[in-house]
Amino acid sequence: MLDDTWYTEQWAGEGSAISLEVKEKIHDFQSPYQRVEVFDTTRFGKLMTLDGLVMVTERDEFVYHEMLAHPALFTHAAPRRVLIIGGGDCGTLREVIKHDSVEQVDMVELDQAVTDAAAEHFPSLHAATFDPRARLYFQDGIAWVADAEPGSYDVILIDSTDPVGPAQGLFSVDFYRNCHRALASGGVLAAQSESPLFHADLIRAMQRDLKAAGFNDVATVDFPQCTYPSGWWSVTLGARDGSATAFRGEDTAQPPFATRYYHAARHRGALTPARFLAE
Ligand code: SAM
Repeated sequence: MLDDTWYTEQWAGEGSAISLEVKEKIHDFQSPYQRVEVFDTTRFGKLMTLDGLVMVTERDEFVYHEMLAHPALFTHAAPRRVLIIGGGDCGTLREVIKHDSVEQVDMVELDQAVTDAAAEHFPSLHAATFDPRARLYFQDGIAWVADAEPGSYDVILIDSTDPVGPAQGLFSVDFYRNCHRALASGGVLAAQSESPLFHADLIRAMQRDLKAAGFNDVATVDFPQCTYPSGWWSVTLGARDGSATAFRGEDTAQPPFATRYYHAARHRGALTPARFLAE
């Protein structure tokens, strides 16, 4: 919703919203899947929305993309083959290629219009697609995982929209079962799991469904994300044949590459749920 100078996303059913002051709308495209809009804002850089919902802003995207990628990649002993489902803005891909052990990243994004908008308006995210290890496919991630060779990935990152529309199937036991089969032993899955404040039931259901799908250990990391509903977000991890809470580099204060949010102590802290979530 846009009045002359503010873009507002009302958080459905939560009696709250976020507004970002905008200068102008610079992109508006209706794809077969969703409406892709980009705004130039006064204080948050470029803003991309899908069907009117905030997807990414230049100012705060680093928190979400670092916390979706690095806890899973440091939990795996030596990640080489990575699958990203969704992630059309390419921010998650940018974080994955920081890991030298990674040899191949398949990014399976349903809607090429999202990545086209990133190419035009978010060059610092889209630049990751020029890495020789990155391979982009524009198709349904649900089908991709169902057809994947068993044991063909070490880490799967699910950077999806909310569990409605084409992303709804990305939050199901069947999908997690196919992910479990596509992961090699020692594999790790990480899925964006919405807001701890607004969606604790969804997080609980995701942990339950991941276990039902065969993941032997699950954990959730939470972190601030000021432009997402409630300003507080989470990612839920599933470990195949290993621990979801032990991770490499816990003894090193800083990761071996540049980050702006992620480091080991924050990873450890993010694994410790708030009292109401633990209960
Ligand atoms: N990082 C932001 C967030 O978490 O809100 C944005 C995530 S990214 C833009 C969400 C992407 O998931 C969208 O580009 C959407 O097209 C994609 N997506 C939704 N359903 C999908 C599916 N079934 N297969 C692959 N990609 C899907």
